[in-house]
Amino acid sequence: MTLTRDEARERSQIVRPEHYDIELDLDRGPREFASTTRLTFTAQNGASTFADLDPVSLESAMLNGRKLPASALEGRRLHLTDLAEHNELVVTATMRYGRDGQGLHRAEDPADGEAYVYGHLFMDAAPRVYACFDQPDLKAPYDVTVRAPGGWIVVANGAMREVEPGLWRAETTKPLATYFVTVCAGPFATVTDEHDGIRLGIHARASLRDHLEAQAPEMLTVTKQSFDHYHSLFGIRYPFGEYHQVFVPEFNAGAMENPGCVTFRDQLVFTGAAGRTEHLVRANTISHEMAHMWFGDLVTMQWWDDLWLNESFAEYMANRTLEAATEFDDAWVDVAASRKAWGYAAERSPSTHPVAGAPAHDTDTALQNFDGISYAKGSAVLRQLIHHIGDDAFVAGVRAHLERHAFANATLADFLEALSQAAGRDLTEWAQAWLETAGMDTLRIEHDGDDVGETASPRLVITPDPDRPATRVHTVRVAAYDQTGAEVAADDLHGVSGRVKLPNIAAATGGESVALVVPNAGDLTWAGVAFDNASLEAMAGGLPGIDDATTRAMIWTALAHGLARAEVAPEQILAIAEAALPAETQMPVLDVATSLALGAVVGRFLPWSERPAALAGLADLAERMLAEADGEHDPRTLAGARLLAGTGDAGRLTPWFRGEDLPAGLDGDTPFRWRVARRLAQLDAVTIDDLDEALAADNTMSGRLGYLTARASFPDAATKAWAWEELTAAPSEDSPAHSNYEMNALASGFWSADDEATLAPYVERYVSDIPRMREWVGEDALARVASLAFPAALASEELDVEVRRMLDQQLPASVRRSVVDAHATMREVIASRAVFAR
Ligand SMILES: [Zn+2]
Repeated sequence: MTLTRDEARERSQIVRPEHYDIELDLDRGPREFASTTRLTFTAQNGASTFADLDPVSLESAMLNGRKLPASALEGRRLHLTDLAEHNELVVTATMRYGRDGQGLHRAEDPADGEAYVYGHLFMDAAPRVYACFDQPDLKAPYDVTVRAPGGWIVVANGAMREVEPGLWRAETTKPLATYFVTVCAGPFATVTDEHDGIRLGIHARASLRDHLEAQAPEMLTVTKQSFDHYHSLFGIRYPFGEYHQVFVPEFNAGAMENPGCVTFRDQLVFTGAAGRTEHLVRANTISHEMAHMWFGDLVTMQWWDDLWLNESFAEYMANRTLEAATEFDDAWVDVAASRKAWGYAAERSPSTHPVAGAPAHDTDTALQNFDGISYAKGSAVLRQLIHHIGDDAFVAGVRAHLERHAFANATLADFLEALSQAAGRDLTEWAQAWLETAGMDTLRIEHDGDDVGETASPRLVITPDPDRPATRVHTVRVAAYDQTGAEVAADDLHGVSGRVKLPNIAAATGGESVALVVPNAGDLTWAGVAFDNASLEAMAGGLPGIDDATTRAMIWTALAHGLARAEVAPEQILAIAEAALPAETQMPVLDVATSLALGAVVGRFLPWSERPAALAGLADLAERMLAEADGEHDPRTLAGARLLAGTGDAGRLTPWFRGEDLPAGLDGDTPFRWRVARRLAQLDAVTIDDLDEALAADNTMSGRLGYLTARASFPDAATKAWAWEELTAAPSEDSPAHSNYEMNALASGFWSADDEATLAPYVERYVSDIPRMREWVGEDALARVASLAFPAALASEELDVEVRRMLDQQLPASVRRSVVDAHATMREVIASRAVFAR
């Protein structure tokens, strides 16, 4: 039973936690750990409430010196009755380590057999570690003590000290929300530093030591630059003591902003060739989590429905900071290329919701809002807000908000009040249109050649979503280019809606040099872009010549949106990719365009019969990119090699698998080798023995995942039967549950075959097996499995019927959301095939 908002409200009227004292014993073997919580809290005299606790077994629970009966624990709730004004609850329990990335997750590193443990208590997993009032507005300081095996290092929110061998004690923390508490433990490799009085630590698995030490300087530089920037921007010093960044195994999200002890997915410590996109994403993640130290950690949302206050802000602030204060001044290119595309896809799904004010009735509902709307749209909307009220007013409002609610909680209303005061104007209407209404406007260019007067000019037309009307005012740039992509004219428009004249572009149109008009050049606003037909025709020729990388990235995102809306044909995407990519030099643009062409167009939109020819065309494109590239540091080398690894034939790729004739910079690159292995397995051009041998040579966590994906990718029916069983079988004593990452790896490889018939039986299995996995997989992990395992490759009306039937059943919230979104994407494929006559 998940906590509801009403229950949270009621409980915060009754109790107020004063202090948590937590002792964890991590030296009790690989399955379980011991947890003792001493919680002091005030309450209304005589009142009743409950604490949250999810143990394997409850050893004892004492409330104000009296032992609570075993029956006090019902499900995950420990009932507390007859409370006093001052109370002490002492709970001793045995808890289970997580394998799904939630609670206290434990993983073993096959490279050296070492074990690692980390706490991920977001959003309602704290009771899997300690007894608590698990809701974001009941904050208290923590004292944490950990017993750990010898040779381990323990890191937590407060600075940790080993007080006797194997016993670690943390400094008392500032008041924290329950979901921010973490402990990370294991024989970590560590790099330490110091900046402006703040002790810094970076940690990763011991087997990653060489990579960590080589890459730590870049990470530490971004960390220091971000601290300086946030200190001057917010006017409040970082308040949580030391700052540790721990790269942990099998982490569900990108990272988690635990105060003083941020956890990251450890693929961010690169073990293979990493392009500019990967470096940008890592720098962005570092800066994003640091922004949360103020937004989220210092000032926390009252309840999960103001989640956007955390995520929209951190998303916006990280990019602003990277651009202003670090070497990653191309941060907004990646936003335009990938983050916005993620957000627009979320906006197209029936699951879309307003950025703010979406009611989160309970924690399961709230988890669904961790999506492209809360991150990408929220950030874009904040950029529009800054255009609307000015940057000085924005910064002043943010500072006032942070000062007013430090170490406490706040709501949307509090935030808008601070901004309105700073701006000296009412923001109610603006907030209604941009924050509290779902949907987005469409931007298109309207020509009228019939008349010579004013109406002959091109105009920008801003049309709201008819189902979700709102009057949004935009700051937007419209740019016109000639057939080589050289900018001819542009109109910068401020605070516009409806139909808008474009005087500069109109003047240039007279000279007949305009071939291509791009609404939202520079990617300033949040809107769908529908290109006019003439511009779409000119795109293949003009796109490579457009100077501004953010605009090129934005065009790819608009093309993806057009593909999804059946306005751009799949063949047009392939033709534009073939023309533009051999000349493209920005890695984020190359990454998004190649994945659009390979993953979306060939993997989903094209019917099966047309896929082989399209793959061959993309393989030719990859060869041209490799031929154009000038060595290892040219982004086309890595992008071309990766594209070829997904499209090429066995004759071309087998030498790569053997380590021969690799493109520059990819010698000895094991993650790249697994990409090649996966493609060869799809082609049935490698044997299981070959894969076993490759695994023996790379028996690491990432090697095992690469192996599982490749192993599941063989096209035969026996492989599919094996992979599906591995993915969905319930765990037992003899075969413990697969980890979240192992499930993702299996699901990623599953839906490839030579024909649809081999895969067809698994549609029914998906419908019946995936929801059942909720019995042993947490919501967060299961949402990913449900997305990756969805039979998107089989889009058809028959599948549509099956999926609708599935949605009529009772489903875990995570599965329902994943299926709703995957179904919406499948409807886009079906609509595209209908329009483009397939
Ligand atoms: Zn975040």
